[in-house]
Amino acid sequence: MEQPRRKPVAYVVSEELVKLSSLLPSNKNRSFVVHSLISALRLPHLQSIDGEKCFQILRPGRASPKDLLVYHTREYLEYALNPSNVTELSPEGLQGAEFGLEDDCPPFRGLREYIQLVAGATLTAVGALKDDIADIAICWDGGRHHAQKSHASGFCYVADCVLAILALRRPTSLTVSSRKPRVMYLDLDLHFSDGVSQAFYSTSSTGASQVLTLSIHHASPGFFPISTLSGLPDTDASSFDPFCLSLPLRQGASNRTFLRIWPIVERIRDIFDPDYFVIQCGVDGLAGDPLATWNWSLGGEGSLGWCVGRIVDRWQGKKLFLGGGGYNSANAARAWAHLTSIAAAKPLPLDTEIPDHRAFPLYQPSFTLDIAAGNMQDHNTEEYIQTVEACFENASAVLRSRLVSM
Ligand SMILES: [Zn+2]
Repeated sequence: MEQPRRKPVAYVVSEELVKLSSLLPSNKNRSFVVHSLISALRLPHLQSIDGEKCFQILRPGRASPKDLLVYHTREYLEYALNPSNVTELSPEGLQGAEFGLEDDCPPFRGLREYIQLVAGATLTAVGALKDDIADIAICWDGGRHHAQKSHASGFCYVADCVLAILALRRPTSLTVSSRKPRVMYLDLDLHFSDGVSQAFYSTSSTGASQVLTLSIHHASPGFFPISTLSGLPDTDASSFDPFCLSLPLRQGASNRTFLRIWPIVERIRDIFDPDYFVIQCGVDGLAGDPLATWNWSLGGEGSLGWCVGRIVDRWQGKKLFLGGGGYNSANAARAWAHLTSIAAAKPLPLDTEIPDHRAFPLYQPSFTLDIAAGNMQDHNTEEYIQTVEACFENASAVLRSRLVSM
């Protein structure tokens, strides 16, 4: 049978986006390292066998204050977008603390442009999906999943994931089905997606939501972010929301654990049956990250590359891939370059040599695309995985019953 022609993957980047994202205090220069590798590997120029382009490059515009007000509060925007509040000369304005602009979210010169362009970049990717220009869109500078409605948090100044979901769930003239669009947000970052999960969490015990969030993350006492939603859900509690799901993993989570839990993820997907997926691909759970909490790999069954490959090949619906955490910039670049190639159905082998380019020395000693797994023990025991399975069995039943009532 002839395969339907794939649309080129929309890849959002511009010089200005790289320059501004490279200012992010928690990830200085990471954006430059990532896009330099992707460009050195000549991924944007890849062609299919029949000579079609695999990617189309989209230059982002800046989100307007009106675009940002769809989620953020006017007070936060008035403060964060006012350059006189956030210059290095007055690094922590009087009200900075009120808006989270301190500690791990210090103000920086260019913050206004950064917020507008990162949100604009993610919304450009959303536009490509909604206008049916692409079935897959990528914005590695997005994925700021801790940002809150009224303040910055956890290295995140703008809630681009939430803005993306709000835009995707809005019906358009191209919406053919009478059903309102459903959006599933899947978060693979080491940290719980508090900013996104809380934005859509509801204690209403009836009806169905157009948005389902599922965060897979590390949880242990004191581990950021502290949230009542980040544990294994208590499916009997009156506060349980089957559209706001959390799957915490223990120290050392590896391919083996992800392979075990992946059927749970696909089951939730099957039940919810979304039109759009937003996949936050934070890479701070990979081996070699300075946070040294998980031991996840890029290749092999159950790896990040394997999960994304399944999503690209087998999941029906349009997909938006976003970045997120990742504090070893060379590894973030390796991972997102590999995922970019997977999104275009042209997976680069992990023994691909890093081409010579400006950031080349960062890839020592291997100078290949692979990220070697460490020898950390995986504390996600069979007993624990079975507890997770039982919990999600119940969650699935509640989810199904709520969708029937839609
Ligand atoms: Zn993270």
